[in-house]
Amino acid sequence: MVNLLELQLEEITEIEFNCSCGQYHEVNIGNVRIGKGVLGEIPEILSSYKGKKLLLVADKNTYQIAGQQVIEIIEEQFIFHTFIYEEDHLVADAKSIGRLLMEIDNDTEFILTIGSGTLNDITRYISAKTKIPYAIIATAPSMDGYASTVSPLIRNGVKTTFKGVYPIAIIGDTEIMKEAPMHMLQAGLGDVLGKYTGLADWKMSKILGIERNEPYCDNIANLVGDAVNKCVNAAPNLASRSDDTIDAIMEGLILAGLCIGLAGHSRPASGSEHQIAHYIEMIFLQKDIHSKWLHGNKVGVATLAVLEAYDYLFSMDIQDILSKGKYKTFDKGEWLQRIERCYGNMSKQIFALKEKELLVEAEQRQKRVELIVQKWDDMKNNCYLPLPSPEEIRGLLRETGAIDSPSELGVDRALFKDSLMVAKEIRNRYGIMQLLDDLGMLEEVSEHITKKYYGDNEQ
Ligand SMILES: [Zn+2]
Ligand SMILES: [Zn+2]
Repeated sequence: MVNLLELQLEEITEIEFNCSCGQYHEVNIGNVRIGKGVLGEIPEILSSYKGKKLLLVADKNTYQIAGQQVIEIIEEQFIFHTFIYEEDHLVADAKSIGRLLMEIDNDTEFILTIGSGTLNDITRYISAKTKIPYAIIATAPSMDGYASTVSPLIRNGVKTTFKGVYPIAIIGDTEIMKEAPMHMLQAGLGDVLGKYTGLADWKMSKILGIERNEPYCDNIANLVGDAVNKCVNAAPNLASRSDDTIDAIMEGLILAGLCIGLAGHSRPASGSEHQIAHYIEMIFLQKDIHSKWLHGNKVGVATLAVLEAYDYLFSMDIQDILSKGKYKTFDKGEWLQRIERCYGNMSKQIFALKEKELLVEAEQRQKRVELIVQKWDDMKNNCYLPLPSPEEIRGLLRETGAIDSPSELGVDRALFKDSLMVAKEIRNRYGIMQLLDDLGMLEEVSEHITKKYYGDNEQ
């Protein structure tokens, strides 16, 4: 039996096994090189492409950070041409994808990209479509998507997840990554902190027996937990930008990404906190709001809010909750209106999704509440109690200088409360926010958390 916790990161990049959870897990990334000076290993990593045609991709920032260095390393042994995106705010949309496609020659055999989230998402998608393999030279430990197989891309103004491929190599030179802007390093930490609540939500769905097609695995959950601990231990030194700290955060992010691959879905790395962050991202996109804050900065803030939600609910007694009878007062009409107001032309899709899973019919809701009562202690002991407190995580974010409130993200009171209320509707993935809804407490808890940040003022 494979013990994932005993393996080094390099050993988990290519692994397949029958797991004690009853599933078969596999992941296959050729190379993950993280450390000081690993950029020099590019010729060896890409040795089978020597003399073949490469496309080197960067944007103007990442080119400035590492472009020249990479060119010096590859210029003698590889044939390549360089493409640099000139946009100030590069987004992973049809335009950026089309632009890169135009740079690919018929005889291009490899794409080498210098960048982080957006450039990796664009290249991964192109690589999957063209079957031309790629490697990523990471410029910041800012998100967990390096070792992922999906690309979130913007289609018609809506963020949609597309299938991609693994890079054949992830090259994370700490000498380069530690020079990244501080909010990018903090974003990496934020994305990792989100795994706390993501794992709690996943476990909750297991306990309630509603994992749907995202089966739970203890081994994977423990591995993610281990990655989170490594990052959290290193985090207080983030400001020093020491090699060890950058190394630990990058390893945690890659490990989390690998766990998505092992599980075959993103549950190990994404729960209510990601849904809230995604909802805010979606609204920003609609309103054409560009801010410097990255996915991970939003996830960090949302994680705190979700920890508050766990704290509020599980500090209560389930019998007290039941005796108030609020779970019986769900108003389907009100719910429909809210979805329409918040999701606009996406609402039809959402209604269909929720109707199918019967989350809104009275009889189903009653059954769900009975199940919740039955499993309350189990959820409290195994989902809530292992979580850090909101104060701990707020302290950690502040210690690293990271933002910790939605207003710092540029989110106003109404949007924040909406995000708590409706972010969960985007898919059928059970977690704390749906649990609150099932118990008739979503409004109460969302208002409670919103008040903490914005005070009493309703408007
Ligand atoms: Zn994330
Ligand atoms: Zn398993």
